[in-house]
Amino acid sequence: MPTSSAPIVIAPSERVFVLTGAGISAESGIPTFRDAGGIWESVRFEDVASPQAWEHDPELVWRFYSMRRERAEPCVPNRAHHALTELEQRLGDRFFLCTQNVDALHEAAGTKRVLHMHGELYKTRCSNDDCTMQPFADHRLYTSETEHPRCDDCGSRLRPHIVWFGEVPFSLETIHAKLERADVFVTIGSSGAVYPAAGFVSRIRQRGARAIYVGVDRPDNAAKFDEVRLGCATAVVPSLFAME
Ligand code: NAD
Ligand code: ZN
Repeated sequence: MPTSSAPIVIAPSERVFVLTGAGISAESGIPTFRDAGGIWESVRFEDVASPQAWEHDPELVWRFYSMRRERAEPCVPNRAHHALTELEQRLGDRFFLCTQNVDALHEAAGTKRVLHMHGELYKTRCSNDDCTMQPFADHRLYTSETEHPRCDDCGSRLRPHIVWFGEVPFSLETIHAKLERADVFVTIGSSGAVYPAAGFVSRIRQRGARAIYVGVDRPDNAAKFDEVRLGCATAVVPSLFAME
């Protein structure tokens, strides 16, 4: 497989679809899933991030997401997040960013066209799907000592606005429509193990678009890309793109 450090040249009419994963936020201090570590080392993600976990022990689930809120709060965007904002400023509507990350670092860097397919850490919503209450911004921490939050409208429990294992990611129709129109597809820092996101590259390659991976390790779906550029996001992304 060819590797290169030459910039990816974007022609004046080309559209770019960027998919980011935990690797882009690693250098901002947010642990990837593989090395999440700390007090939760003994807890499997499935045991705190699934509808079954929520059913079984909502307090534990809220403690887990409260811990993640607390840990992510002081983190700031890095050079890779900022470089994507600059790319968006050059491309405008020809740029689209889909992130699997629930942190808010793309927005903090100023990127506008961001879609959080796996939800947002700093949002909370009603657990009752029939309730009309909309997801709302929420930085609060819910620990075992605090009362667990309930919906003002219907009284159901409030839950993190996160897509758990076994749930369907948000806005797949919009994502597929953007993939249909993209000429260049770039994935940054995602192990390629979790679907449907890991399958986006196959979709785009069927149409003959270019696909490039950037990250410190070869992802599980590496064979699907035209090119894999190994390196840290902050080292590779700032010089990754050039305009024709
Ligand atoms: P991941 O932790 O599986 O992979 C992160 C990737 O980033 C790795 O391939 C790693 O090589 C790379 N990386 C690490 N540091 C980097 C850096 N500085 N620069 C560039 N790349 C770097 O995370 P993911 O692929 O985003 O996971 C996808 C989704 O799966 C998540 O959004 C989450 O919803 C879900 N999930 C996955 C796991 C898991 O074990 N893979 C666990 C829980 C949840
Ligand atoms: Zn409600």
